[in-house]
Amino acid sequence: MKAKKHIVRKKKVSKNRKKEPAIKQPKPQKVIININKLLSLEEAIKYVVDLSGEKGLEVFKYLIARGPMEENALAKKLKFEKANAIRKFLYKLYTKNLVSYTKKKKGAKAWYTYYWKASPERLVFLIQKEYEDEIKQAKKSIDLNKANDFYICETCNRQYELKQALENDFRCANCNGVLKHMETSQVVGEKENRIFFLNEKIRKLSEIFKIK
Ligand SMILES: [Zn+2]
Repeated sequence: MKAKKHIVRKKKVSKNRKKEPAIKQPKPQKVIININKLLSLEEAIKYVVDLSGEKGLEVFKYLIARGPMEENALAKKLKFEKANAIRKFLYKLYTKNLVSYTKKKKGAKAWYTYYWKASPERLVFLIQKEYEDEIKQAKKSIDLNKANDFYICETCNRQYELKQALENDFRCANCNGVLKHMETSQVVGEKENRIFFLNEKIRKLSEIFKIK
């Protein structure tokens, strides 16, 4: 007699895995930006210029003011010789999603026509991200400084961790000078000030936009 196969359907259970949060469909959000405030922010202007040059900034500003625009018309308005010449700047902005495009074809044989649109809200979030990253770094540095005792030879400016300093009898391996305990409180204080400053910047950024 054949043994009946007993089939148990195993449930797929992922062991020891963190429960991933259920993916929620994001609600369509409307971000309302105070453009004047944004464009008067030094760091906002600097970000765009660093990315795409003064010309890129001009293109970005114009697109914000005018709304979506066809590429050739945009090139003409901004006195670029050809659409090709303006594309270089548009692509630079596009690498950070500060602009986006849609392409349309008029008739089967026609060329694509590109329409470009600026996304000033992206700029706010990019700058905010930079500040947040720097805060993270500063916090790491504070933890490191608090957790470790450092010693310094003031002649050679060499730093030693406590363990090395102990091994060397608190003398410099290079010049045999006496090591001094390093005051980390100054480093920590400076980093804390920087974090405060950056948080203040983030707070100011948050005044520029509303999410509806
Ligand atoms: Zn030394």
